[in-house]
Amino acid sequence: MLKEQKIITSNSVERAMLKVPREEFVWPEYKERAYEDSPLPLGKTGQTISAPHMVALMLEEMELKSEQSVLEIGTGSGYNISLIAEIVGNSGRIVTVEVDKNLVGFALNNLERTGYDSYVEVVNADGSMGLPPNIPRQTYDRITVTAACSVLPVILKSQLKEDGIILAPVGGPFAQRLVKIRKGEQSRLTETTITWVSFVPLRSSYRQWN
Ligand code: SAH
Repeated sequence: MLKEQKIITSNSVERAMLKVPREEFVWPEYKERAYEDSPLPLGKTGQTISAPHMVALMLEEMELKSEQSVLEIGTGSGYNISLIAEIVGNSGRIVTVEVDKNLVGFALNNLERTGYDSYVEVVNADGSMGLPPNIPRQTYDRITVTAACSVLPVILKSQLKEDGIILAPVGGPFAQRLVKIRKGEQSRLTETTITWVSFVPLRSSYRQWN
């Protein structure tokens, strides 16, 4: 269906979405709803696993290729990073950062059960500082933020390689623009808006809404 709707346009995203079992990543009581196209709560954490169409749309916009290094801010269930791992393979560095300790445990468990723990590194930290925190010379080919930011943390722009892409929801607490930033020659950044989205807020010591 996501293919008919032209949300999935590439074979690699289609293959990954068919392969990674979403029911292994949703909170246990929502297992039966794993294949509905809606976001689902991650227990009582106030966080959600994004709807499949949003996950697919973001994966397409990331233009993932094998051997890339990828950083995700906001591990949640580990579903999105498993899809990324499925597309990129285990020759690149694939890291995901989660601020909530309980969700780190939940995601690690899901990754172990599905076998993606061998590809994916999960770090318990505030991803708005980048990874490692505030070290601009550690760079990635792709960075994806899966929580809403009032402004994109500047460090993430420094941690992006040339030809790299950042995808992040930027805007207010209820609606954000899904922003795609590409780093071109001489580190020139170009920004486009893909669509409007609604993500849970990034929890951060970085400037957010009050
Ligand atoms: N990508 C996830 C869904 C993310 S929901 C999935 O596939 O399931 C957003 C996640 O971002 C939540 O788990 C939330 O705890 C996390 N988060 C919020 N602020 C964060 C921060 N500053 N650093 C890292 N993770 C953060």
